Amino acid sequence: MNDPVRKLTALEWEKRKLFLSEGFSSSCRSLRGFIPGGVEYLFTPWEYSCRGDLLLRRLRFDSSPEALRLWAFLFSEKDRLFLAKNSGAKVIALMKDLGQTAVLAYAFPGQLSFYADELWWAPCFAESTHLLDAASDLGATEELCYVRAVLGAMKTLDYFPRPDLCVAGVGACCDDFSAVMQLVEGLGMPVHWWEMTAPVPGGCETPYGGVPFAAKDLAFLRGQLAGVVTALEETIGVRCTGEMLAKSVSMFNRLRTMVRNLRELVYGADYPPLPGLEMYLAEFIAIHTCSEPDECFPVLAGLTRVAEERHMLGLSPFKGGEPPLRIYWVYPPTDASLIPLLEDMGGCVAGTDYFINHAFLPLREDTDPLTAVAENCFDDRLLCSPGMRADAIVRDIRHFRAEGVLLSGIFGASHCPWDDRIISEKVREELGLPVLSFDVPYSPGRVSEQVRSRIEAFMDIVRQRRERKR
Ligand code: SF4
Repeated sequence: MNDPVRKLTALEWEKRKLFLSEGFSSSCRSLRGFIPGGVEYLFTPWEYSCRGDLLLRRLRFDSSPEALRLWAFLFSEKDRLFLAKNSGAKVIALMKDLGQTAVLAYAFPGQLSFYADELWWAPCFAESTHLLDAASDLGATEELCYVRAVLGAMKTLDYFPRPDLCVAGVGACCDDFSAVMQLVEGLGMPVHWWEMTAPVPGGCETPYGGVPFAAKDLAFLRGQLAGVVTALEETIGVRCTGEMLAKSVSMFNRLRTMVRNLRELVYGADYPPLPGLEMYLAEFIAIHTCSEPDECFPVLAGLTRVAEERHMLGLSPFKGGEPPLRIYWVYPPTDASLIPLLEDMGGCVAGTDYFINHAFLPLREDTDPLTAVAENCFDDRLLCSPGMRADAIVRDIRHFRAEGVLLSGIFGASHCPWDDRIISEKVREELGLPVLSFDVPYSPGRVSEQVRSRIEAFMDIVRQRRERKR
């Protein structure tokens, strides 16, 4: 308990929380805009595990109060959505794009918007297949990836209340989610469809991602986003002005800057000041504020402060020997316990591509908001060709000086049957780094032995390579 950076179990946090100041706990409030005074949310991982997310009992957590706040902020999203709905707010389910339509939705008062896609990690956190079973009953069976949990949640409504509107991106979209979104509409949910366009080279380039595209495609996409705004206006009953959209762009820019800076600080360090699991959570706040545009800023600011202080003082949860082996992680792991497993084996996460890297890029504020968001859509690596995605990953790996690459595939995922191979080959050819690629099995209550031994063998190879280089 005296080591300020030793990771804590859920039960250890239960005891440690008693020593947190009352002022800190009561400052952790959300929904101030909907409920007078807001609602306290600082419960421990153990308390959240008692509500059903059993995986939390197998994890270890960063020991800073700011990290506790982060965990509580993420796991209280469900409560926020129900409470907001009860207090008269509209609840909007965004689907498939990751981080762009949220910029449009959060231009509106009187609503909370969330990404239904994130339900895809719910079966592993809950160590329960009930959402997948509910999806199977409706026809979304095992040939689809875990995103079918969204359909189960739309049926059971135990993760979010009935949405007032679902915003569904199609076109340049995987088959899995297309099928799931159609089944969601089949349940009687109000759905607004818009077409996502894949970027095709045509003389223009996105300002921050450097992705080539054609002006006519941008105009089309801009029109689609204008349609999303109209659907939101009709649902929420508020007319949206350019000024409201510009304010939201600016708010998301501040948020994206914070997450981008935190990634640089942590993933760039030889001894990262924060564990990979906390970073996993923090990265996803960038896409939709975790349904709380006010509170997400103090949460991220606190985490950044901890990272900066530790950096200055030379503190790190990875200290105690030689610097950890630097691993770049591709695909968000459905089973979050794999990240600490890698760390227990002497590794650290040094850069990620969890499908959301476009959400760390700035949005232009010197053009109209719809154009800025449309340009950012083209930066989505899942919409680009697998070759472009592989190039971007190679650039990231160089930037973060990773020594190995781990691709944690998602069972049944159809986003591209070839990108895994293309990325692996490119990394080996251009960087000569070891690559481990496997599909993450569903293994409630424990880590799959097969996965454990694969990661162990991979880490040995990365370690030997470091020693040879030395
Ligand atoms: S197929 Fe891939 S991109 Fe599509 S929902 Fe599943 S994991 Fe996401």
